Amino acid sequence: MRRTDPEREILVKKRQSHTGKYVTVIILGLIALSITFIALYAQQISRGDNTDEVDKSIKICITPSCVSAAEHLNKAMNRNINPCDDFYEFACGGWNRTEPMPDDKATWSVFDILDRELLRNLKTILITDEVVIPGGLEATATEKMQAYFKSCINEEAIETAGIRDLEGHLKAAYNSGLEAWPFFLSPPLTLDISKVVRTAFEFGNNLDLFSYYITGGPLTPKINVINFDTARFTLDRFSLLNESRQASREAYVQYGVDVAMHLAADQNRTDVTLEGVTALFQRILAFEMELANATLPPEDTRDATEFQNEMSLSSFAGNYTRSLGLTGEKWAEIFANAWPDAASNLTANTIVNVRETKYFAKLNSYFTGATPDRMNVLSNFLAWKVLEPLVVRLGSKYRSAYQKFAAVVSGTTMESPRLETCVLVLNNQFPNAIGSLYVRNFFRKEAKAELENMVRYLILSFREIVKSSYWMGEKTRQTALEKAEKIVANLAYTSYMMDNVTAVNDEHRTFLAGNSFLLNYLNGRKFAAQVQGRRYANANQPTDWVTRNFIETGPAVINAFYSNTRNSITFPAGILQAPFMGSGYPYYWNFAAIGTVIGHEITHLFDDQGAQADGEGRLINWWDPQSKKAFEERAKTIIDQYSGYNLLGVQLKGANSQGENIADNGGLKESYGAYRMYRKQHLNDTEEPRLPGFETLNSDQMFYLSYAQVWCGDYRKQEVELQVNRPHSPGRFRIIGPLQNSPQFSHAYRCPQGSYMNPIKKAAVW
Ligand SMILES: [Zn+2]
Repeated sequence: MRRTDPEREILVKKRQSHTGKYVTVIILGLIALSITFIALYAQQISRGDNTDEVDKSIKICITPSCVSAAEHLNKAMNRNINPCDDFYEFACGGWNRTEPMPDDKATWSVFDILDRELLRNLKTILITDEVVIPGGLEATATEKMQAYFKSCINEEAIETAGIRDLEGHLKAAYNSGLEAWPFFLSPPLTLDISKVVRTAFEFGNNLDLFSYYITGGPLTPKINVINFDTARFTLDRFSLLNESRQASREAYVQYGVDVAMHLAADQNRTDVTLEGVTALFQRILAFEMELANATLPPEDTRDATEFQNEMSLSSFAGNYTRSLGLTGEKWAEIFANAWPDAASNLTANTIVNVRETKYFAKLNSYFTGATPDRMNVLSNFLAWKVLEPLVVRLGSKYRSAYQKFAAVVSGTTMESPRLETCVLVLNNQFPNAIGSLYVRNFFRKEAKAELENMVRYLILSFREIVKSSYWMGEKTRQTALEKAEKIVANLAYTSYMMDNVTAVNDEHRTFLAGNSFLLNYLNGRKFAAQVQGRRYANANQPTDWVTRNFIETGPAVINAFYSNTRNSITFPAGILQAPFMGSGYPYYWNFAAIGTVIGHEITHLFDDQGAQADGEGRLINWWDPQSKKAFEERAKTIIDQYSGYNLLGVQLKGANSQGENIADNGGLKESYGAYRMYRKQHLNDTEEPRLPGFETLNSDQMFYLSYAQVWCGDYRKQEVELQVNRPHSPGRFRIIGPLQNSPQFSHAYRCPQGSYMNPIKKAAVW
């Protein structure tokens, strides 16, 4: 159950390195498979299924690329299913058989498999026997990463250190008595809240009272603004509030109790009792539930104009954080301390945006005139929130406490392999240093230019769709076309990461790695917070890399992004590989896979949220009232469609995922249009050679099959419950939804009208 066969992965992904005999063996195997498939298809045809008969004159592609592409598709499929009955089952029905979910994962998809491979690749660079702890500023970024990595994988040293470094950190950095947590009613301890917040922010910790992110201003998108947002809780909002997640809440209390009891044991404290800490964590949970209750559900937060409440830091403090003793001056000081490069920009008059004012009003009133008892719960809560992100960075008994909690929340039954966890930690904190190693060692360089070309076709194709969108008024349509033309695409990596190692070293000059993993981790968080400050101090540029509104991304990421305030789309190097795009892969494949991802990100700039910004990233309504009404009606068709889907007994929430669903539907339509455009211009509009084992499927049919394989995957039930409260639909409906809406798909597979995959009612925005 645990691991998939590594050899099979190599067969699919490292095509370039195989030559000669090995390839011959594969091809012979594939020819054998082919014969089986042809037999299967002959059978289907006789049953009246909608597949082409095998034409002897058809060209078959047997290059190593085609063979590995075919193998990849084949192992995911279930060919006994009629594609018109359920295309997900047809394309992905074999997935669970060939890709069992590892015990440490809550989802298992193409993305997760590539993530794992990326971590394994990077590990080979980070692990080295020669690494000595670099003592000075002159060490290279790579040496620092290697030293940090070494401290992370040294589990023996982590066990030996126990809580020594944690205590040292709490005393030295916070100097607030936090090391004496858990605190009890007598003697009462009331923390200096502003001091705790100041140090926590310095180490990139929001304390789960509030969160913040940086984004361009609504009317001045080039100028960065701090946005205060609601807390992001340890246990997600849904689990805090929903009846069905009682077990998760109990597990959360147990997690806190376990950590507190371990700490007490490690400190030889005798005053800490199980009953005492259990009661304390019940109070902490009740407080978090109360906070969560004051936040809006995600589906009610989609209209950006409702969440523009700009004010100075001193107004923010006066309105919302007075009862916590946080004044405007203190807030300016808190940010200046965390962001040295932005210190001179921050005063009590600095303008910030407060998204959900009701939440902050609730927070303020909760502590206005609060009893000592309530303030004591707050002190305990804050100390817990300082510690909680560090729990999984400690020794095994602490990590087990977390794992027990995670098992209930997401269903995973074991920790991820240490080596993979360590690469992930480094990549999150140092996306540019790790990204630079990634692109210099593992990236197929030609992919960047190939992608650039495809982006051009996708934008052209999107513009064609806009041109024929007669539900839009003429002027609105023109503005949409202009906005599409202004899209900035960030591809693969920023050039210095590939060819200027000195610049990468300079960028990481202030980070010093030592022997202690915990201290390296804390310094890494501090460094990442300072990078945020650097971003804040500079202009918000479309060419900057950004994951939507939140944190920057590096190149070593299997994902893609867009930014409304920058009118930009970003495709990190990590996703520019098979099965998203492959060298020598058929064109239909690359358009269907990475092409749809490109189309998805383009469409985001025109989804229910993206359409609120103009081509400069300003929050300006450029929609005439009729067009806007038509847009909303069309979006409603998507909302209704997805609200009707159900996975493992969990109903999807179409309103919540509408932006992603609009993007999925637009992306598929655009990429198909782009493919046909490309084929016309470069391939004489003819069929491409077929894949071995897929001789009966023409290029259009293969386009949709290649699209679907990107979204094959598996979820644990606990994860589905969480997923429907997040923006993305589960993989199954990222296939079913857009294909049910696509007349071109139904035409390609000749799905009868009224069949599951070709419903009469079709939904679309674009
Ligand atoms: Zn998206």
